[in-house]
Amino acid sequence: MEFNVFEHFKGYKRTTNGPLTPEEQGTSLFLAGHMGPEIREHVDVHAAKARMSRRNFLGTASGFAAAMLAVNEITGMKFFEVTAAEAMDPAAAKEIKVARKAGLDFIVDAHTHICWRRDGYIPGVNTTERGMWFVQLLDDLGKAMGLPNGTKDMTVENFGKLILEGSDTSVAIFNPFGFREDYGGKDMIPIEEQAEVKQRWPDRTVMLGGGLTPNQGRGETLDRLQMFVEKYKISGLKLYTFDSTAKRGWWFDDQKLAYPIWEKARKLGLKNIGCHKGIPFGQFMARYAHAEDFDAVCDDFPDLNFIAYHSAWPYHSELAALKGFKPQRKNLYSEVGSSFAATVTSRPLECAHLLGTLLRDLGPDYVMWGTDSALWGNPQWQIEAFRKFQIPDQLVEGHGYPKLTDEIKAKVFGSNAARIWNLKSMASVPPAETPRVVAV
Ligand SMILES: [Zn+2]
Repeated sequence: MEFNVFEHFKGYKRTTNGPLTPEEQGTSLFLAGHMGPEIREHVDVHAAKARMSRRNFLGTASGFAAAMLAVNEITGMKFFEVTAAEAMDPAAAKEIKVARKAGLDFIVDAHTHICWRRDGYIPGVNTTERGMWFVQLLDDLGKAMGLPNGTKDMTVENFGKLILEGSDTSVAIFNPFGFREDYGGKDMIPIEEQAEVKQRWPDRTVMLGGGLTPNQGRGETLDRLQMFVEKYKISGLKLYTFDSTAKRGWWFDDQKLAYPIWEKARKLGLKNIGCHKGIPFGQFMARYAHAEDFDAVCDDFPDLNFIAYHSAWPYHSELAALKGFKPQRKNLYSEVGSSFAATVTSRPLECAHLLGTLLRDLGPDYVMWGTDSALWGNPQWQIEAFRKFQIPDQLVEGHGYPKLTDEIKAKVFGSNAARIWNLKSMASVPPAETPRVVAV
């Protein structure tokens, strides 16, 4: 299965009206999925009750709430905790939103990116055709999310505007990309350029090292790792087991290629090692997107944490089985970037199974929030959607999934990441304990 946002949301219409509100971003995705036509009818009813045009209504918190309420009504399952009052009265929706805002949640976005470098990506000059598949995908996604220039808007500057200022995100974790064979011999996102994010917002960002590709040579890989730690003071790694060398990829449990990296990471004091798993898009080979190599490495390096980014979706059950059948494990983590965003609006049942499987098998202490922004533009609609998302009772009963309680949401949103990245000093705000305003 190839992830392509336009395949996933067949009815998606790109707006030409400039940047969308975060709510409109979310609502557009609801309307673009297979339930879109039905959702539209429901939304129109609420827009009429609010005495607003559909166009204006969609940009409000009520429009977004109306889309979620429509999903509950169409499916007959309670995926979203949302009320009719919220869906037809923008003032009520706003009140609820403000009451739930900043201060109530400590949100660590474990998965963010800048996606532009100074040299840019010029086909045939510094980017191969294969390299362009990936750039084009990110570019299309960004444009659909209200970034008029796609990847060119996924800059250091906009990282701050969209993620740190424009959303309720407290701390954002980010990483560079490698694949230099496809990008003119220079990493797709070089660490020296993305380090500017850390320099600009030192207290609100965590920088991971990346682009380590052992198929480029073991000595070089280990030297780069050391340089990342000494020069850039990285807080962990996020790697890709697909690569752009002739070998196309490698595995975390390769004792010759990979174990020296983990041994060195351990010596250098790095604890958190992430990897893109699942979502086998662009030039990425699907076989390296499975998480089976985490099995041995988790046992052999029990003092390191291994994090499957994207939760290995759509192979998340394979990931979950690595803990479901080996409950003794304490170092296997997952992160929901893009997987949540791609499923919550158009395939809510799949989203509930995804979160349910992870929470049941890996456990609520091992699932972390992430949005893959700025690829998805401003992450706020994802935050709002997760605040309201529920695992319906039928699935709780039929699959033994835990209910998505406020306590579990606080763990996923921030306290799990805060624990492993030692973000306590930044976590001045306790997780949600204050009673919520409930619409009447
Ligand atoms: Zn990503």
